[in-house]
Amino acid sequence: MQYPEPIAKLIDSYMKLPGIGNKTAIRLAFYTIDMDEKDVANFSASLLAAKRDLHYCSICGNITETDPCTICADKARDRSQLIVVEQPKDVMSLEKMREYHGLYHVLHGVLSPIEGKGPEDINIKSLVQRLQKNDSIKEVIIATNATPEGEATAMYLSRLIKPAGIKVTRLASGLAVGSDIEYADEMTLFKAIEGRQEI
Ligand SMILES: [Zn+2]
Repeated sequence: MQYPEPIAKLIDSYMKLPGIGNKTAIRLAFYTIDMDEKDVANFSASLLAAKRDLHYCSICGNITETDPCTICADKARDRSQLIVVEQPKDVMSLEKMREYHGLYHVLHGVLSPIEGKGPEDINIKSLVQRLQKNDSIKEVIIATNATPEGEATAMYLSRLIKPAGIKVTRLASGLAVGSDIEYADEMTLFKAIEGRQEI
């Protein structure tokens, strides 16, 4: 049996989301049909608003409504330190900790030879340009995840940045191997930053 076209399209849309397989997509599609029309309208309006009103900061690559983002624009932030993360959600996790007051740079991914992702596929060029333009940055803290790709990216960045005389450190391995910053609690993140080591 074929699904009526509106349902089939909905299933296709859900399947484009990460971690959603065919079965879950079908379940979500039928659930959506059962929802109140008002809730569905709110849901679709939120999706569109998030896409339309948010952009990437032209300086750090973080998600923002204004450009530059509030962190880059904040004169009170410590401009001698910069944390490099994989995703905008990692910035949110580190900001929740309220212990770090420096700057950020979002890579939007990691180097991954298996997926054919090289340095030009992630936000590295703008990081190098940023470091060349700002001599206020004295330390780059690499906070990519403790995955093989995250480690390889950290090593690549270290080799790239260190010759410029900038200190390069890596978060302490308080984060278990293979774990994501996203899921670490604030105390673990704090300890990981406190115990960072030069690489
Ligand atoms: Zn920014």
